[in-house]
Amino acid sequence: MTTTTIPTQAIQTGEHLAATLERPQRSSRNAIPAGAGSELDGQQNAPRMLSHAEVLELSKHRFAPVARALVFDWGIVLIALLAATAAASVWAWILAIVVVGTRQHALAVLGHDGMHRRLHRSRRANDWITSLCMLPVGIPPAGYAAFHRRHHRHLNTPLDPEQADALLPKGRLTARSIGLRALADLCGLGFPLLRRLQREIEPANRTERVLASIVPFITAILLGWMLGPLAGIAWIVALSTSFLAIFRVRAISEHVHAAGTWVFSTGPIGRFFLWPHATWCHDEHHRWPSIPFYNLRAARGCFEQRHVRTIGQVIRDIGTAQGWSVSR
Ligand SMILES: [Zn+2]
Repeated sequence: MTTTTIPTQAIQTGEHLAATLERPQRSSRNAIPAGAGSELDGQQNAPRMLSHAEVLELSKHRFAPVARALVFDWGIVLIALLAATAAASVWAWILAIVVVGTRQHALAVLGHDGMHRRLHRSRRANDWITSLCMLPVGIPPAGYAAFHRRHHRHLNTPLDPEQADALLPKGRLTARSIGLRALADLCGLGFPLLRRLQREIEPANRTERVLASIVPFITAILLGWMLGPLAGIAWIVALSTSFLAIFRVRAISEHVHAAGTWVFSTGPIGRFFLWPHATWCHDEHHRWPSIPFYNLRAARGCFEQRHVRTIGQVIRDIGTAQGWSVSR
């Protein structure tokens, strides 16, 4: 099974940017694309690569889309909690917890862009925004950055830390087994795995460890102070249930059993609930980590002759794949 290794420099976005990003892959038009789910795809559909100038253009910083995304995610959190408070019913709170979990995951996705220094031109501002995205959901930014660099550098090899990711279940995966695991997560049964994942993403220092532990509760206290105690409790419950379920499904959809990264598209519902901020363009992200989330769709538009699966096809192919498997 062929795998694609991303150059080390590709992780270093911003200053280093595209000068080193796409060159190795541009010269390999006939290589199996990182996004091909199978070797057959790679042989039949060699995509046109982005030019150096295109990567530079798409990698330019713009803060407006970042600000819009932050306002959208936090706005949805507040609306969901306000609506549940007003409705004062169990079902409204359950729905709110699911919706809040989608936005917690979306904030983590934004934090991932921050790890690639894509949220702001200023490194200091970028790091602050990244912390404000990740710490409320309990992810240590610097620890995650180290974890994620190894993932990019050693994609789908035994050195890829995601191969041992606690959220990627062992054994054969099917739509049914993935659905059942997500359901178990929604019921809170995945909480021990969340704790294990937090241990895998080792905080960079003691300060970060403390912040990643207490900021989710500070966030809950603030929400409770603004909207009532149930709103604060809902934040913590969502972190332990819906956030975990969504995180797991999205993680499975990216690389499991793929030659590199699955290439798929999804509709508005999928983009809202499971693949926010263009995270469904994960293949493009691995090819060009310098391109921020708000330009990944444009990057995808530059490809030609490529088989883009539906998410249903990806799950079916994961279930029948004989290639790389999760080693646990
Ligand atoms: Zn990344």
